[in-house]
Amino acid sequence: MAELNEIEAVAAGASEGRASAVKLRDGGVVSLVLDVAGLEPLARDRLEIAVKGALLKLEGVSKVQVAMTAERRPPRLIVVGSGKGGVGKSTFSANLAVALHRAGRKVGLVDADIYGPSQPRLFDCEDVKPTARDQKLVPVPNDYGVPILSMGHLVQPGQAIAWRGPMAGNALGQLIDAHWGDVTDIIVDLPPGTGDVQLSMLQKHKPAGAVIVSTPQDLALMDAVRAISLFEQGSVPIIGLIENMAGYVCPHCGELSDPFGIGGAEAAAKSMNLPFLGRVPLDMAIRKSSDAGVPPASGEGLIADAFGSIAARISTWIDNRFGKAG
Ligand code: ADP
Repeated sequence: MAELNEIEAVAAGASEGRASAVKLRDGGVVSLVLDVAGLEPLARDRLEIAVKGALLKLEGVSKVQVAMTAERRPPRLIVVGSGKGGVGKSTFSANLAVALHRAGRKVGLVDADIYGPSQPRLFDCEDVKPTARDQKLVPVPNDYGVPILSMGHLVQPGQAIAWRGPMAGNALGQLIDAHWGDVTDIIVDLPPGTGDVQLSMLQKHKPAGAVIVSTPQDLALMDAVRAISLFEQGSVPIIGLIENMAGYVCPHCGELSDPFGIGGAEAAAKSMNLPFLGRVPLDMAIRKSSDAGVPPASGEGLIADAFGSIAARISTWIDNRFGKAG
């Protein structure tokens, strides 16, 4: 029997990114919603036939039920920021998205880090380029249920560093105003610091909330404080702070030690009256798995649990603020 991930990927391909809410029921019955906004009746029929045809070829799929819709509300934006680079913001964004997906949310990921777009590598989909439909990008699906659009999809490596404000802002707009299907929440991996992309984000896109990643060292925290005040000035609610590379997991014996001390980010969060969302240890397994294009939050064990519990807190924050249904 084909897996749901495979069914979703085939539906996304055959529908040019218009399929959403793909479900697999007993007896190999697949149901899905097709976004037919802007299509003529003949084109709608053709699309339905193409999607059904492609899915019925999959092993074990006996029937395909298609519902059509032409309206949609734009996804919420949850931005992930940090004061400086190298604190693990991209790694955290990727794994937060995966953990939220595992918790049942429809999540997408925008890689807005113009200085070092790394999400395509973290999800092992560097070779896949997004297509465009009606002048909008169609996000790239992957094995972890998190469709992605990245600055890296729009430019050659290194080129974006020279971008001036309006170019960076335009590129960000293209990534956000894309065919996100039934995604309700987009995690946005921002560049470090407080530059053009952040400003464009605050002025044009009104994020629903921000998560700040820091390491336990004081210097990184000082930088984090600057990032926090940028969001506060832009009236973006801070969902909370996470501490990455907190404690070191010995690759030989698994023991957790604290070379940089413990509790720095938690204390900083407290002193700024912000929620502390949790810590992720410095663990070689995280780097290895990330380099191999397998987000560690997709596995089992302590690391996946760490991302899972932070994601659960963020999920609760979203539910409390916007209601469970929204
Ligand atoms: P940023 O986006 O803040 O620049 P990255 O997410 O690219 O940082 O992480 C920088 C490097 O640190 C990467 O090689 C990544 O695999 C590694 N890394 C991030 N978090 C951890 C962690 N908790 N344990 C081990 N390595 C980590």
